[in-house]
Amino acid sequence: MNTETLWQIVLADLELQITKASFQTFLSQTKLLELTQDTAIIGCNQPLLINLIEKRYYDLIQKTLTSYTKTAAKLVFKALPVISDKKVFDEPLFKVKQSLNIITPPPYLNHYYTFENFAVSSSNHMAYAAATAVAKSPGASYNPLFLYGGVGVGKTHLMQAIGHSVIKNNPKLKIIYCTGEEFTNDIIEAIGNKTTVAFKKKYRRTNALFIDDIQFIAGKNAVQEEFFHTFNAIQQAGGQIVLTSDKPPEEINKLEARLRSRFEGGLSIDIGPPDFELRTAILLIKAKQRGVELKIDLAKLLAANIENPRKLEGVLIRILTESQTRDVPIDIDLVKNILGKSIKEMPKKNGVRLEDALNAVATYFNLKPSQIKGIRRDRNLARPRQILYYIMRSELNVPLADIGNLVGGRDHTTIIHGVKKITDLLSTNEQIRGDIMGIKNKLFG
Ligand code: ADP
Ligand code: MG
Repeated sequence: MNTETLWQIVLADLELQITKASFQTFLSQTKLLELTQDTAIIGCNQPLLINLIEKRYYDLIQKTLTSYTKTAAKLVFKALPVISDKKVFDEPLFKVKQSLNIITPPPYLNHYYTFENFAVSSSNHMAYAAATAVAKSPGASYNPLFLYGGVGVGKTHLMQAIGHSVIKNNPKLKIIYCTGEEFTNDIIEAIGNKTTVAFKKKYRRTNALFIDDIQFIAGKNAVQEEFFHTFNAIQQAGGQIVLTSDKPPEEINKLEARLRSRFEGGLSIDIGPPDFELRTAILLIKAKQRGVELKIDLAKLLAANIENPRKLEGVLIRILTESQTRDVPIDIDLVKNILGKSIKEMPKKNGVRLEDALNAVATYFNLKPSQIKGIRRDRNLARPRQILYYIMRSELNVPLADIGNLVGGRDHTTIIHGVKKITDLLSTNEQIRGDIMGIKNKLFG
């Protein structure tokens, strides 16, 4: 793999590890100039940032690079001449087709997080509908729009999609996008530096305010106070407010009552965990963004095995990297190989004993644990046994030998075969997916 491709992959990985704003500011403009066994020379066309990048990101960059090259090279940062012909740095990280007359999105928005790249399914269609309505006429429909849900369900993506769309429709509008944490830091700094007037000017005069993870301000009195006034000022001037949170307003602890009632005065919508179909669609979109056609069967296999959408993207990146570094096609063997690894790496879920898994599977199929452990090989016993192997292996990371011992002394090839069988079936068989979900609910609650 050449240094350019390698660096694209490393950057894609780094992008997932730090905030979008930091990535855009510091790392997106870097280039791997040279790589030897012990030195990696990294170029940056903003000489003023080099010290900062080195101080903040040396370890992270080194760790990430090493995970792909397997040799811990020392990093050397080098200023690049600022080229007037900006072509070199204007090339997108991954070649994505773009229409010609696009309006450059502001750097604080991730350029992938658009409506076009957002897949819609039953778990998020309400939120999507509301978001598009707000994007069409900011300030006029739902205000505030409050999106809530668990990690990785697409809150940030959808919120930024509104931002992109608002700017595209009306480039003159002033919008602010920040996280609850950034808002908090900003106000604390303003109080410390006695620049609250500037702070107020900045936030209260915006046409649309997007605050991601607003729950962060709960319990912080001065911040909530300032936010309350900011909120009112924007709303009174006809501006739009969009907020996201991990919980609905009524469940956010230590949130001031007057803020809660403001939040509830608009529209709050939850985004549920993505189902199998949506996970498949997300994978296909993410692969396409990276210029790769992922076969639908492979996407399904991955979607069936990985529930967390953030993890989906991580695994996808690993697949692309492996395929490039080893120069092999993205096929079923590669995907299974990676899944095997990622399954092994999944953290062990604490507190669940092997016996619990056995009992959960037995109860689910109306069998006695002794029947599952026993030697009879009837079909109605064989499948639950394989499901048990699968759950132990993929959810609990139990070593093959231990599974064998627990289930009546079976040898490891039997276990491997069983796990593989279920992994294959997961991508095509609705019934098996349901069974596994049911058992996992019993086990993990
Ligand atoms: P949250 O803010 O809810 O934790 P994010 O918006 O950061 O989640 O989403 C996590 C990742 O999953 C992002 O890469 C995002 O693009 C992707 N993602 C989530 N939902 C969707 C979707 N419906 N369509 C496309 N990508 C999605
Ligand atoms: Mg988020």
